[in-house]
Amino acid sequence: MCKQISENGSSLKTKNLTTLLQIATPSVETIIQPDWAAKHGITLTVKRDDLLHPVISGNKWRKLKYALLAAIEANTKHIISFGGGFSNHLHALGFCCQQLNIQFTAIIRGDYSQNPSPMLQDLLNWNANIQYVDRKTYQQRAEPDYLKMLQQQYPSALLIPEGGSQLEALQGVAEIVEELSHSYDYVLAPVASGGTLAGLITGISKYLEPIDCKILGIAVLKGEGYLEQLVTDLLVKHDHSKNWQINHDYHFGGYAKSNDNLAEFCRDFFQQTGIKIEPVYSGKLFFALRELINKGYFPQKSRILALHTGGLQGAR
Ligand SMILES: *Cc1c(COP(=O)(O)O)cnc(C)c1O
Repeated sequence: MCKQISENGSSLKTKNLTTLLQIATPSVETIIQPDWAAKHGITLTVKRDDLLHPVISGNKWRKLKYALLAAIEANTKHIISFGGGFSNHLHALGFCCQQLNIQFTAIIRGDYSQNPSPMLQDLLNWNANIQYVDRKTYQQRAEPDYLKMLQQQYPSALLIPEGGSQLEALQGVAEIVEELSHSYDYVLAPVASGGTLAGLITGISKYLEPIDCKILGIAVLKGEGYLEQLVTDLLVKHDHSKNWQINHDYHFGGYAKSNDNLAEFCRDFFQQTGIKIEPVYSGKLFFALRELINKGYFPQKSRILALHTGGLQGAR
């Protein structure tokens, strides 16, 4: 497995932005040894993107990095994006906008005006403009007509899709792979809007030998077929490899759905490893990993990397 040295856009501007926001890249790669990994001779490494920043959720930074750089370059004064009341993406983007002096409008699915979540309270403290829309309106968040209408209403605003999952997100996520200092047989990550998985696929075909490294996404919501389509659409023609797939067995009934078993697992994982996980994303990822290891899904001696994407809004 060879790793190429690459020339990427780590220009002065990139450095300025990561310095300004105090992003701690490269993130740590650390081996963990929970009791359920050891017996199968598996080496389990966690890429700690949860430690990139105390506020900006790990994979959201990766996805937003180049969009924010482009926004700064274009002297953008207003950014609009979409999400739920507990969105890690809106939280990360709202914080970045506040730091960068960019007006931020968050379009929220559902009306939380009487009872704003901690995430929404943070956005309000950061002077974001919050617009609550009903579920039907929210469903149009990616429809060209709706976006055109929004753009006409706010001609100078930059629209960023839900979760920050857009073409510009891929290079930022791919840099996770560029940072790796070891080789892995499998890379695992949770999947919701697909940008992170698409970025990892892109990174592995760019910086590693894709034949040697399989990518396994763990769906955190019910979306068999739909999630694969989201990822494929983002990849456009970058997808040479077909070395990836999404497992749909561990969504626990849907997005942010959980049960006692999962909650217990998250606590136990923290006790065994000292790493905090939550039931919306990372909990499902590591739960799936344990189950798959127990079932013998991975060959003996597999070297597995799990991406801790951060994001503890769901646990507040
Ligand atoms: C948003 C998020 C994800 C999902 O990433 P996608 O790119 O939307 O698939 C995973 N983990 C955390 C912590 C997140 O906040």
